Amino acid sequence: MNDCVFCKIAQGKIPADKIYEDEKFFSFLDINPNNPGHTLIIPKNHYENIYSLPDEILCDIGLLVKKISIAVKQGVNADGINIIMNNDSAAGQIIPHAHFHIIPRFADDGLHHWPGKPYPNKEEASEIAEEIKDSF
Ligand code: 5GP
Ligand code: ZN
Repeated sequence: MNDCVFCKIAQGKIPADKIYEDEKFFSFLDINPNNPGHTLIIPKNHYENIYSLPDEILCDIGLLVKKISIAVKQGVNADGINIIMNNDSAAGQIIPHAHFHIIPRFADDGLHHWPGKPYPNKEEASEIAEEIKDSF
């Protein structure tokens, strides 16, 4: 896509701190990291989100996410790794080119998980589970 920042990074038209590249994928440091070593992985072809990623690309990128997570963890001597994919703006997706975040975590990094919002009762949880199962 012509005006997509991540397409331009994959094509070398916008500079980035490259971590990995092959025929189908490109990986680079996030410009505004949650922690040093925060890395992004993208398919070189433009797909907007997980819903439109072809299964084959998703399978391959899953293996790459594992490989790069291990390298990031070792590279910055992290205590843990968060793997995040934001899909749609409501979920925080800013760049509409599918990507995975590999975020190194440190025991004392001060980042917190989202707060839990417990179901008010068991019935509501069961109803929601049914609605999701009916949507396959
Ligand atoms: P999203 O919220 O869409 O999941 O995350 C997009 C990420 O891309 C953000 O963490 C942001 O810092 C990163 N980002 C946006 N523009 C650029 C850029 O031009 N270069 C790099 N390296 N990262 C970018
Ligand atoms: Zn793109």
